[in-house]
Amino acid sequence: MSENTVGRFAPSPSGYMHLGNLLAMLLAWLDCRKLGGEMVFRMEDLDPARSKPAFAEAMAADLRWLGLDWDRGWPEDAAYAQSGRTAVYEAAFHELDARGLVYPCFCTRSERLAAASAPHPGEKEFDSGCRCARLSGAERDALLRSGRKPAWKLRSPDAAITVLDGHYGELTQNPAREGGDFIIRRADGVYAYQLAVSVDDMRMGVTRVVRGRDLLSSAPRQKWLIETLGGTAPDYCHCPLLTGGQGKLSKRLGSLSTQVLRKEKRPEEVVGQLAFLCGLTDRCEPVAARELIAGFDWEKVRKEDIPIE
Ligand code: GLU
Repeated sequence: MSENTVGRFAPSPSGYMHLGNLLAMLLAWLDCRKLGGEMVFRMEDLDPARSKPAFAEAMAADLRWLGLDWDRGWPEDAAYAQSGRTAVYEAAFHELDARGLVYPCFCTRSERLAAASAPHPGEKEFDSGCRCARLSGAERDALLRSGRKPAWKLRSPDAAITVLDGHYGELTQNPAREGGDFIIRRADGVYAYQLAVSVDDMRMGVTRVVRGRDLLSSAPRQKWLIETLGGTAPDYCHCPLLTGGQGKLSKRLGSLSTQVLRKEKRPEEVVGQLAFLCGLTDRCEPVAARELIAGFDWEKVRKEDIPIE
């Protein structure tokens, strides 16, 4: 019950939000408001190729429409958009580099490109290692001098990292063995998701991370990164995903996109549907988001993913 609770919305503007995104946003907001916390809105527009300003604007409008507000962040303050925070990531990168934790990776482009966005199901996450991790200083210098642009990887810790997730309990992971080294800066200079999200949560004073459980396996790495950079990791609390026939809903699932929902339904109807689907309420009936704050309890929230037609 700390007045210092800081929660966050952290969407990536690579499409319109759908019901699945809205569920995670609603739970993040309820969690924060129930704790009397401050809500931050961070726009995760790190990847210039995938991010579109129109999606970013639509996301802010969708959250407002739903009755989910924030106390600081984008778009009121441009410093909360990741696209403008390169200097902050660069400082963290140099700090990690100075500690010998970073090395250039000259492997294929496709492997390097994947890393700017959050890893979602089905996307390759495990890096079984490459020779770049063991190049001699002379080999590395020769490759760098040849003009080849490397991606930059962080050496994963070969140690058990434990996260106590507020909803799914204890998760222990050895990042080196269960994920391998990971890219923190792409060959095109774009900083990668794991670095950016960790640095931002730390710098923005975030104390509660509530998001879909597809990112649960990223939490130990993020905790380790934040602590390595001298910060205090937030509490993590992951939530179930809405699933269609084939796993997690994708942003392309048009009929559940906010663009369609907002034409067909009132915000209270959408909130009521989400609250019922995730177990917060017993009946599927319209309700305003703020009316759910008093009764919000993670005990009521389902753990298993939620199939919807
Ligand atoms: N921006 C990420 C996404 O939309 C979420 C990042 C996070 O919550 O850590 O998938």
